[in-house]
Amino acid sequence: MTIGVDDDESAFSRLEDNKGLAELWLRICGRLKGEVGEVEYRTWLTQIALGPIDGDEITLLLPTRFLRDWVRSQYGDRLNELWHNEVPALRRVELQVARPGDPAPLQLAEVAASPVGSPSAPEEQNPATKPVAEVRSDLVTALDSRFTFDTFVVGKPNEFAYACARRVAEKPSSVGFNPLFLYGGVGLGKTHLMHAIGAELVRSGNVSVAYMSAEKFMYRFIAAIRSQSTIEFKEQLRSVDVLMIDDLQFLIGKDNTQEEFFHTFNALVDAGRQIVVSADKSPSDLSGLEDRLRTRLGCGMVADIHATTFELRISILEAKAAASGVVVPAKVLEFLAHKITSNVRELEGALNRLIAHANLFGRPVTLEATQDVLHDILKAHDRRVTIEEIQKKVAEHWNIRLTDMSSARRARNVARPRQVAMYLAKQLTSRSLPEIGRKFGNRDHTTVMHAVNRVTELMERDAAFAEDVELMRRMLES
Ligand code: ADP
Ligand code: MG
Repeated sequence: MTIGVDDDESAFSRLEDNKGLAELWLRICGRLKGEVGEVEYRTWLTQIALGPIDGDEITLLLPTRFLRDWVRSQYGDRLNELWHNEVPALRRVELQVARPGDPAPLQLAEVAASPVGSPSAPEEQNPATKPVAEVRSDLVTALDSRFTFDTFVVGKPNEFAYACARRVAEKPSSVGFNPLFLYGGVGLGKTHLMHAIGAELVRSGNVSVAYMSAEKFMYRFIAAIRSQSTIEFKEQLRSVDVLMIDDLQFLIGKDNTQEEFFHTFNALVDAGRQIVVSADKSPSDLSGLEDRLRTRLGCGMVADIHATTFELRISILEAKAAASGVVVPAKVLEFLAHKITSNVRELEGALNRLIAHANLFGRPVTLEATQDVLHDILKAHDRRVTIEEIQKKVAEHWNIRLTDMSSARRARNVARPRQVAMYLAKQLTSRSLPEIGRKFGNRDHTTVMHAVNRVTELMERDAAFAEDVELMRRMLES
């Protein structure tokens, strides 16, 4: 490797004669690798190419803006120090995005094999073979065998999503909609349904399936960039019949990955592959995702998993209790279904604890034992906040009179806190909209509904406001 240096004053000219720049860089890389560890090093640092030296400044090149920013923020100072230690005259390391025609990254393995190679260069650094195998094994994440259609309890809130998932699992080649977009709050069964699709497809054979979280997708994508195997990565994705990406909301704010996902998505759909995606909100509510991606996501079947009903909670508890082999009296199940309404995950957690307790001590499950064993969980769900309390706290926080909660005044500084109070009343109590309206100066239920929507909308748009409301909520909950 040669670097043209015709300026005697340049820092490079002060290097000792027999030290190649490549060797020097290799040593720095070895140090860095020792400091940050193998995985981090491979993920972020192997893509750095050596750029020109200009006076007391050396330029390092990275293939994308994203990588440049990341390396700059995480390793910039350290790179500066390391270079400066090697060549004291070098005062600055500049990180730039490589342009076409710029030198390629110096491959550690190549250098290691060449005469300038340093003994510290690790042998397993062979980018030509290693990453590909990784992509392959990471593509098919192990499916959780507990999450099947058989163990998924169907009820009103999830029957549509369930039917759509079944459809994908049964006829992946002629589903009739693409993608399937599953959405709903945490712990309501999105991941369960995706794994169930996967399990069913694997069971029926001759269909290949890939499942990964959006986070994993991003990680794989970045790893593919750094090992220059994005083409292989895409081809592997394209080689599966059904691709499932979980928790897509993770991509919000990750513009490069979104962009890549968008292209992959289009390519797969064009190639006739089926895609299943999950998120915590509907495509139109996923603000922060690129418009064209949202539009594309909304083009298939959008299936909402609603909050559980009492009936569904009972059915789920019955099914899980039966599977455990421990006898749990109906009264206890009803009690739990009444008390723990947030989501299935928490409900399941509570039941599991009861069952473990019963197994451990060999005692029958009773209502009394339940209250005892689940003391802490129940307490957390037992906050009975009243509307009066909410009004009082909110009025205090925004410095308005308590009477203004029910007054007819419509000035913004009064109306907004009033709307927040209505919103919190809806969130934290089990009161109906008309009941809430009555407590706020006999307002109509549509006014309450409007308040709830308005506050939700504002919270999405205004982070400071959202934080304020969240703070109120936490204060009221504790
Ligand atoms: P999400 O991905 O929507 O956050 P999960 O799929 O991880 O939720 O579900 C949380 C837990 O609740 C899992 O253990 C899952 O098996 C269970 N669960 C959710 N919905 C159901 C259901 N309808 N029937 C049985 N178990 C369910
Ligand atoms: Mg999930």
